[in-house]
Amino acid sequence: MAGHTKSNIAAAPGDPELASEASGRESYDRHLLLDHVVRPEDASQRERFEAVARTLRDFLTQRWLLTQQTHDRENPKRVYYLSMEFLIGRTLINNIINLGVEPYVRKELRTDPRQDWSEVVETEPDAGLGNGGLGRLAACFIESLATLQIPAMGYGLRYEYGIFRQAIENGYQIEQPDHWLAQPDPWEVCQPRQTVQVPVACRFELHDGVLRAVPGYATHLLGVPYDRPVVGYGGQTINTLRLWGASSPDHFDFGEFSSGDFVGAIVDRILAETVTRVLYPDDSTRAGQALRFVQEYFLVCCSLADIVARFRRTNDDWGLLSEKVAIQLNDTHPAMAVGELMRLLLDEAKLGWDEAWELTVETLAYTNHTLLPEALEKWPVRFFELVCPRLLEIVYEINRRFVADVQQRYPDDHPRASRMSVIEDSGERQIRMANLAIVGSHSTNGVAQIHSDLLRTRVVADFAQMFPERFNNKTNGVTPRRWLLAANRDWAGLITESIGDAWITDLSELRQLLPLADDQTFRSRFRQTKQSAKERFADWLRTTTGQVVDPETIFDSQIKRIHEYKRQLLNILHVIVLYNRLRSDPSISIPPRTFFFAGKAAPAYRLAKLIIKLINNVGRVIDEDPVSRGRIKVVFVPNYNVSLAERLIPATDVSEQISTAGYEASGTGNMKFMMNGALTIGTRDGATIEMAEEAGEENFFLFGLNAEQVANSRQWYSPHWHYENEPETRDALDLIFNDHFSRDEPGIFTPIRESLLDHGDFFMHLADLSSYAEAQQQLGELYADPDAWTRKAIINVAGSGKFSSDRTIAEYAAEIWNAVPCPID
Ligand SMILES: *Cc1c(COP(=O)(O)O)cnc(C)c1O
Repeated sequence: MAGHTKSNIAAAPGDPELASEASGRESYDRHLLLDHVVRPEDASQRERFEAVARTLRDFLTQRWLLTQQTHDRENPKRVYYLSMEFLIGRTLINNIINLGVEPYVRKELRTDPRQDWSEVVETEPDAGLGNGGLGRLAACFIESLATLQIPAMGYGLRYEYGIFRQAIENGYQIEQPDHWLAQPDPWEVCQPRQTVQVPVACRFELHDGVLRAVPGYATHLLGVPYDRPVVGYGGQTINTLRLWGASSPDHFDFGEFSSGDFVGAIVDRILAETVTRVLYPDDSTRAGQALRFVQEYFLVCCSLADIVARFRRTNDDWGLLSEKVAIQLNDTHPAMAVGELMRLLLDEAKLGWDEAWELTVETLAYTNHTLLPEALEKWPVRFFELVCPRLLEIVYEINRRFVADVQQRYPDDHPRASRMSVIEDSGERQIRMANLAIVGSHSTNGVAQIHSDLLRTRVVADFAQMFPERFNNKTNGVTPRRWLLAANRDWAGLITESIGDAWITDLSELRQLLPLADDQTFRSRFRQTKQSAKERFADWLRTTTGQVVDPETIFDSQIKRIHEYKRQLLNILHVIVLYNRLRSDPSISIPPRTFFFAGKAAPAYRLAKLIIKLINNVGRVIDEDPVSRGRIKVVFVPNYNVSLAERLIPATDVSEQISTAGYEASGTGNMKFMMNGALTIGTRDGATIEMAEEAGEENFFLFGLNAEQVANSRQWYSPHWHYENEPETRDALDLIFNDHFSRDEPGIFTPIRESLLDHGDFFMHLADLSSYAEAQQQLGELYADPDAWTRKAIINVAGSGKFSSDRTIAEYAAEIWNAVPCPID
């Protein structure tokens, strides 16, 4: 890679070779030759991608080391972000941009006439080590931590199989394995010397294809670190994302638990490696399987051992732990950290209980991500007994002391103590992981204001009364480097041309766009960037999936996990309402619109999968009906992932954020659309409320019941009333139930009927359908006035500055972690 002159980026430290203009191409050729034993002219696309990535990694290595050396020398407070998911997506283009070397990379690769730059970028697999928002948040956070130069490390698992690849066959979701590591990943660096031992109190055996834990054979797993560079914007700080891969010791003690069974020992090894084989594909619902439990335990054990070892290298006083270490738990998945940190402080450091407890609580902090009761994790005590009995012992003692505290503070309130207990005693004994996380940490935060409020007042009200000072809000954000600068080059370029480039690291600068909302030239240039993004997307869609869309229509997108609470059903019901209007009077005017849907359903979530089928079938029927063809169109884009989001969001005019109020903790997709100039139609839920505050409600299309109304109308809400009294609602439902969209598979949508009518429509689709249709009507009318529309779109972008993850991370650093930047010179 070439040297560069941009002043805020350090020259490749101490590497004159890499800093010379010619060397980037040389390094690239060398990697092709030496890594793949292939002549540059014979190299495959994949080999070229790897060579480019490796050249870039060579370039950043010294800086990466310098970051570590500086942190070791300065001994600052470090932040550790523990997450079972990091939904990274592609890395190459973002590293190039954050390192500030794009012009050189482009220039040098252009000297190779066989090199199609965009194809090289597309060749990189999308690292899908997460399900959705929670995992993507973790990825945005570590990027912001590096950009803000905070000494930080992400800890996660190196799943060999990420989130499944989704194919659509006959309208149905088909899950295919995502073996993203089938070819070596050029970004990861294995660090075998820092391998960690994870004690496990049982042995795993295969019986008829089922993994069983057999008690009584204490053994251990190995956690092998695989490090990935996390490049901050400007290339100053390069932090590390450390993903643990599971392995087993090379030399089994055959005598200990088997009769010199060589094959059995190999099988054990293979079983050990299954621990990090695959990501659980459940979003907002808990899997509950034993293997998932072991995964969570494995992440916690490996990460805490690593954190404590690093702390001990530079500090000999355990009392400094919480001054030097902050550990953030991304949801309850790593909440075993409460017990495991206590175990380390009691058993290894030999501290007394009180000191160990104080350090644990001061070091840990917990982020809650959901208001869905079925997503609150509970683990059977039985699992703890089998895998980590010492941890269980400690959790019991934590709880014994805690319940005694509760009883002392509320002596006359017995139900309270059993509500708050970390242990659930009804039925099979279980550990309530959220209770454990709240009791064992000094901070519990929600991810948007309304979510934090509902947490405090409803979900864990008992805890908020007992520890009011622990509860706080940190509204989510997304990194503007990936979601604006890299994903939408034209729009980012126009912004920079108009207000300078300070917005890249201070998104509140976008406020300066406000006066330009009234500037005719700026508006028309905004429209040009949007139009070309739509055309690019239409081209890409046609060449990759064969689906044809018209970029002259409104692009309306609902892209997110498929879930009842997110209400893709509400969206498709409205489409059917429009279709019925066209059927009854083809002469009415409806602005031509393309409704994009994308998202994966958990493989075991039958109703969500049926919703995918309904969307696809509605799309097909509407396409085939002359009355609707060319006027409204429904497109289900398969395999939603980060790369697809990066493509579709810049091309979108209308962002659908229509969850049942009170159920979307924050949302982050909503923010990505806002900074890319889409208008939002949405409910008063999650961060959408704060987005509307920032942009002004008059620039939003808000509709439907608010969270309080949803809660208050539960007792008397009747979906039947809407069916009987709203003709458009009834006609839309009847069309589904009369098999208009399922002629060749009659009756398949019965479960949707049951959910909406017979089982009470828990997510209140029918309650909101008419006000949704009304808001859509107004939106369509506004679109007919391009200047009025564009004005609002620009005002929205100008108001999106709050939703940078830099702002979120700055708040965590100041209010939870007490961490400050540690500049690398
Ligand atoms: C941003 C993002 C999400 C989260 O979207 P929501 O609309 O907030 O649920 C999920 N998946 C991917 C790939 C994303 O980029």
